[in-house]
Amino acid sequence: MLTTSHIDRSAHAMARPLEGRVALITGSTSGIGLGVAEAFAAQGAIIVLNGFGDRMQIEDTRRTLEQTHDVAAFYHGADLSRPAAVGEMMAYAHAEAGGVDILVNNAGIQHVAAVDAFPPEKWDAILAINLSSAFHAIRLALPQMKARKFGRIINVASAHGLVGSPFKSAYVAAKHGVLGLTKVVALEVAETNITCNAICPGYVYTPLVEKQIEDQAKTHGIPREKVVTDVLLKAQPNKRFAQVAEIGALATFLASDAAASITGTALPVDGGWTAH
Ligand code: NAD
Repeated sequence: MLTTSHIDRSAHAMARPLEGRVALITGSTSGIGLGVAEAFAAQGAIIVLNGFGDRMQIEDTRRTLEQTHDVAAFYHGADLSRPAAVGEMMAYAHAEAGGVDILVNNAGIQHVAAVDAFPPEKWDAILAINLSSAFHAIRLALPQMKARKFGRIINVASAHGLVGSPFKSAYVAAKHGVLGLTKVVALEVAETNITCNAICPGYVYTPLVEKQIEDQAKTHGIPREKVVTDVLLKAQPNKRFAQVAEIGALATFLASDAAASITGTALPVDGGWTAH
């Protein structure tokens, strides 16, 4: 029999579909990760933030999430280039937030150089942060997701997981790797109510992109407006940067019960870039 509290809970669940779920979003002190954290919190999720930045600002972000959305929010500053730190972050999420129902592997860095001038230490760092940290977080999240018979893994890859561009060898290799990892995980856990998908953004306006605008303006000796129109958005047919809220909205849908049958996919949010 349905009691009033059942009705209240289901009404609440419909209003905020991620109510009570714990979401860990790597690299969520900035850009897309922060946008995803805000979108999840607005839908009732308990948030575990991760990433670098000014400690006071991060604490402010954490508290604002709690106060604005009436959810608990936590923070762990693991440096994801170190596998042991990924383990510490996952253990923290388990101990403090009660586990990880939704894992968003979002942290990422970029370096732009020709292959024969690409610094090997940059290659190693990009592979470690953009690809291997996702493997470590997934491998540590899965046992508990399997036990709970629920899990949503969302890997923030890139249009560069689907196509290449010159001077981005490590980034493109790592993002293609993320798509391979996404497919394998999806297949392995397909019968356990755990899904694993990748979001493949084109250009989204974030600090990472702002840095690329500045770098390219310096390298090519052209004004930043020209870098935006003639370099960055050249291959993006809709000629606009996506907003972090658009990625947050898609991640929210993928994390919801309604997306239970979507798994193993790579979903472009790229204004038509990979339709070329
Ligand atoms: P951003 O620079 O704004 O944010 C990156 C986040 O990762 C920050 O929170 C940073 O502190 C964190 N981070 C970096 N190194 C870390 C480390 N070693 N350990 C822990 N955290 C670390 O970048 P963004 O544009 O929001 O990018 C987020 C993700 O989206 C990346 O994986 C990026 O490749 C991907 N992406 C971005 C775009 C875009 O146009 N912005 C397009 C496609 C894909």
